[in-house]
Amino acid sequence: MPVRVRFAPSPTGLLHVGALRDALFKFLLAKHEGGENILRIEDTDRSRYNPESEEEFITTLKWVGITFDEGPHLGGPHAPYRQSERKEAGIYAELINVLLAKGAAYKAFDTSQELDEMREFQQLNKLAVGYYGGNWRDASAEAVAAAEAEGKPFVIRQRIPRGEKIVIEDLIRGRIEWDSDTIDDPVLIKADGMPTYHFASMVDDHLMEITHIMRGEEWISSAPKHAALFDAFGWPRPIFVHCPVIVGKDGKKLSKRHGATRVLDYAAEGYLPVALKNFIALIGWSPGDDTEAMTEEELIAKFRLSGLQPSPGRFDLDKLRWLNGHHIRQMSPTAVLDELLAYVSHPFTRIYWENFVDEEPIPNKPPKDGKQILARLDRIVEWAAKDREYVLAALALEIERVLTLADFGEAVEFFLVDSPTIDPKAADKWLTQPHAADLFAFIAANPASGSFEEATAHYDALLRKYAEDNGFEKLGPIVHPTRVKLTGKTTGPGLFELMAVLGPDRLRERLLA
Ligand code: GLU
Repeated sequence: MPVRVRFAPSPTGLLHVGALRDALFKFLLAKHEGGENILRIEDTDRSRYNPESEEEFITTLKWVGITFDEGPHLGGPHAPYRQSERKEAGIYAELINVLLAKGAAYKAFDTSQELDEMREFQQLNKLAVGYYGGNWRDASAEAVAAAEAEGKPFVIRQRIPRGEKIVIEDLIRGRIEWDSDTIDDPVLIKADGMPTYHFASMVDDHLMEITHIMRGEEWISSAPKHAALFDAFGWPRPIFVHCPVIVGKDGKKLSKRHGATRVLDYAAEGYLPVALKNFIALIGWSPGDDTEAMTEEELIAKFRLSGLQPSPGRFDLDKLRWLNGHHIRQMSPTAVLDELLAYVSHPFTRIYWENFVDEEPIPNKPPKDGKQILARLDRIVEWAAKDREYVLAALALEIERVLTLADFGEAVEFFLVDSPTIDPKAADKWLTQPHAADLFAFIAANPASGSFEEATAHYDALLRKYAEDNGFEKLGPIVHPTRVKLTGKTTGPGLFELMAVLGPDRLRERLLA
């Protein structure tokens, strides 16, 4: 039987890291197994449904590159894939009748006041809180008929078997056992006729021939209800796979403080989908060896359920940054430029940086200025239109040094401005050297010609010659003033290379300024 998995979000808000990992694991499993990945929209809770959220899910999944074989946007043999539409089609009504006829579900006419009183009583008497039978589990057929005749509103609850053990074999956690008397009777159909998650999701998993119910660990406590539901219908149970929770680097519950934000914010910050997928896949899964950096193809080839770990997965933003830098370095300058142009023009990038507030500035550094970041990126776009080769050469030198696409803005800025902003400390130290003016004039008077390699070799030889001719034992007093004069900074790519890229005209202008 081919593997069939489903990503079944309830579109109620933004798409965060946890949901992304959920979707990614299923995508990787389906791809690895040559199976099918299904998108199902679980929108039966109409009070929390948010159409913008559905949009957000689709946009995010598309950006990350998680694809589906069936879904509301694609159709498929089990359409519709939106639960509200499945409800309209009568799918749940038909199946709840099957359960009622079997006695595996029952109507409960409790008022909300009665339910409140029951809860209070349970709390007061330190009893388990929940509906373990109430007035209706064992009500006579006459009492039910009378309540119905009166037109009393009711819900339909699952009749969890009593006095039994409910056992599941979870693929990650192994055997888990519950005493069925500790499981309350969940609502399957609400008073307005809408199915709950418990009912709709399991019914659909069966009808859509889902082989693995893969989901977050927070659903483990629902698993006995779900298993009992499959048993009540007489349907074979899918395999349960409850993935570990995600925690922050410090082992605490994941929060914004750990860098866990809306997934689309990572796009806006200049992370590559390939890096994000790589990073997210490693939270709670391991390929079985020490490999960390992987392409999508490698992830698919290595993804096995046996690599899922029972212990919580750690979210480490530094690792994401490192992986992102790694994946940027796998790209050619042309590919980086294409990626950058698409990135800078994306409305999401612009909105994000225009409204950016640096809540955690690095100590002793000015807070990140979103508008400045955008302006620097825009400068790259502007230059790419007038001198693509120059921009490509500048990017090639900085690829080694950046961690995100946004970093390129600052990294290549000195190439693209008329005169770089000089760091005052660096100026004090290096531009005040007595030989500085003479050195700059010497370089300006000896321009390179030829290819990038030839020019690099020329400046290398030239600066060494100046050192030798003027009695400098080390190259530092030659290299540092030149770098500061040309770039404004004390760090950056190789000096001879950047001189070759700047070219004789810009060198002369900057050195003699
Ligand atoms: N609709 C549920 C959610 O969004 C799906 C949980 C599941 O995968 O079973 O959390």
